[in-house]
Amino acid sequence: MTRPVLNEVLETPYTDEFDVVVAGGGASGLMAAVSASRMGARTLLIEHANCLGGTGTYGMVAQWIGFYNRATRVVGGMAGELADRVVALNGSEGFRQYLMAEASEQPIPIVHFAFNPEIVKIAADALAASAGLAVRFHTRVVAPVVGGQRVTGVVVEDIAGRSAIRARVVVDATGDAAVAWGAGAAMAPSELTTAAHVQPCTLMFRLSNVDVARFRAIPRETKRALALQGIREGRIFWESLSFCSTPGNTDAICLMSRVSGVDATHAADLSRAEVEGRQQIASILAFLQEAVPGFEKATLAAIAGHIGVRETRRIAGRYTLTEEDILSFKRFPDSIALGAGPMDIHETGGTGISLHVPAQPFEIPMRCLQPASVAGLVVTGRAISATRHANGGARHMATAMALGEAAGVMAALEAASGQSPGADAVRGALRARGGLVSTDDATETFASH
Ligand SMILES: Cc1cc2nc3c(=O)[nH]c(=O)nc-3n(C[C@H](O)[C@H](O)[C@H](O)COP(=O)(O)OP(=O)(O)OC[C@H]3O[C@@H](n4cnc5c(N)ncnc54)[C@H](O)[C@@H]3O)c2cc1C
Repeated sequence: MTRPVLNEVLETPYTDEFDVVVAGGGASGLMAAVSASRMGARTLLIEHANCLGGTGTYGMVAQWIGFYNRATRVVGGMAGELADRVVALNGSEGFRQYLMAEASEQPIPIVHFAFNPEIVKIAADALAASAGLAVRFHTRVVAPVVGGQRVTGVVVEDIAGRSAIRARVVVDATGDAAVAWGAGAAMAPSELTTAAHVQPCTLMFRLSNVDVARFRAIPRETKRALALQGIREGRIFWESLSFCSTPGNTDAICLMSRVSGVDATHAADLSRAEVEGRQQIASILAFLQEAVPGFEKATLAAIAGHIGVRETRRIAGRYTLTEEDILSFKRFPDSIALGAGPMDIHETGGTGISLHVPAQPFEIPMRCLQPASVAGLVVTGRAISATRHANGGARHMATAMALGEAAGVMAALEAASGQSPGADAVRGALRARGGLVSTDDATETFASH
């Protein structure tokens, strides 16, 4: 069916000009913008929410994974600096051992960094301020400005209307490859990213008055039996009683809802998912209060500002990271960040999860951040060029932060020279500030608490 078309004539004023513009202030975009600014680039960070941190803060996914592969530290640099700032503000107890998905069939032990998302918002503001970059909240990047095959800026919309901003280089950290897609960059095959195939979404929520110690003391087998009982009764929605607790240990930030079949690039789908997520939360809360020790007096304190989206578009870049690359620990001369895993794939349309921790850290090449056919653009975070399974191992927030720091360096070097930088220059700049860019750099071992 041919749809009717509204022809518009727009005159959009250019209101500003920067060396580097970063679209999206989540895990990756925050680091990209701070990194570019610290490299001396005049940098603007544009975020449509009211805070930095993305899925970790306004999405309320309150634990950073990916700093450690088993006991080996694989992410340092500015992500480590942000973690230190959060601890200093009493927003986390730091790195701890954690049994991931403990009510599932095959839980895995990992090292995580659980945090209070509200404190991370404050620490992220301070990190941005320390770098002197400009931050614009409540602003959506709606399109790239493209000249030839090069991105030369972005069009934004905010409460004042529509305007354009020139940039020497744009970093797409939207998670959805929104800028790259708008610029006509090649994408991963769309049949892999349709609603029927993508991983389910999760709407996070926070409960107060939870006896966390009592719940943690329950044997794992009992937790699994409770989860399966809840699924059988149709009151919980996947094999999870997983939550993170903040310092003080009376709140549980719960990763328990699951909404399948969502194409999160469509507002109608997302709207349905938000409503279904809230309905699930009401059901889960009643189940927890009735059946799960520690939750008897739990009260609903907050629901995340945006449902958590695991998967939408990914670019087809100059190189596509594969599951085989990760599992064979393939070395790349242009590796600019290390992944830790786990390979973490939530079952589409089902109640299970597949988890696997690679035996070693894995390298992520710079080419995964470079669109194959569009210049002036670096893509970072969960939209980098990777297969679905590789993305399952590379989408964790510590990895996204490491990729973001690299993207910021790449963008700043290109903005200064007018040329796409060589990998050696990028790696050198990252290492100089404590970044871990190849498996040779990953040596530090986790000391258990
Ligand atoms: C439910 C769920 C649970 C997860 N669990 C964990 C976990 O326990 N630990 C872990 O480390 N990782 C976890 N992940 C993965 C991780 O959160 C994401 O993969 C990671 O946040 C990706 O980082 P990012 O910077 O690419 O995207 P995000 O953190 O999502 O940030 C993208 C940012 O871009 C902004 N944005 C998007 N479009 C625009 C636009 N057009 N204009 C302006 N701003 C825009 C968004 O508002 C957002 O702030 C989970 C993910 C989900 C969904």
